[in-house]
Amino acid sequence: MVRQIFISHSQEDELIIEFFLGTFGLAGPITPILYEYKTKTEPDWQEIQRDIQSPLTCALFVLLGPRILFDEYNRRKQHTPNWITWETGIARQAGKDIWVFEDYNTPVDFPIPSFDHYMRYNIGSKDHRVYIANRINDYRILLRVRQIRKLTEAAILLTCPCGISFYYHNAEKSLICPKCKEYMEFP
Ligand SMILES: [Zn+2]
Repeated sequence: MVRQIFISHSQEDELIIEFFLGTFGLAGPITPILYEYKTKTEPDWQEIQRDIQSPLTCALFVLLGPRILFDEYNRRKQHTPNWITWETGIARQAGKDIWVFEDYNTPVDFPIPSFDHYMRYNIGSKDHRVYIANRINDYRILLRVRQIRKLTEAAILLTCPCGISFYYHNAEKSLICPKCKEYMEFP
């Protein structure tokens, strides 16, 4: 059975989705699970919950993008942020790894209450794409990337004053904490 990764996203962040689907294409056989949230019909929350909890699902990727919070007319959205918060809660309860990915060019002011990994990327960067593809491939070996930290050579464990500890996958010594949204730096 092919393992899978659940993708928490806004389908309107098309470039981001395209980047990640291309990255899954580079990686080995791991299936990305994406739900299309139409405005007219409610997504089937029980089906989503089953998919996140499935033993085949190793991780949940949160793809932060501007359309999570605002629509094309710059009106604030209600549903997408609620869904993403709910999905990360289900993943946390089910003991899945949670990754937060954020495009350097479009930081998103949306807090993620619980996660294990954080990485910023450039959509145009081949290095970032290869790095993420390798992390996806890690899930072909083990269910939790916590256990294979040695393989994620660039990641360091950070603890924010807000209390969250997570693996950080960038080289810069400063960042905005994805949970409390405060600036943090480290030596
Ligand atoms: Zn924090």
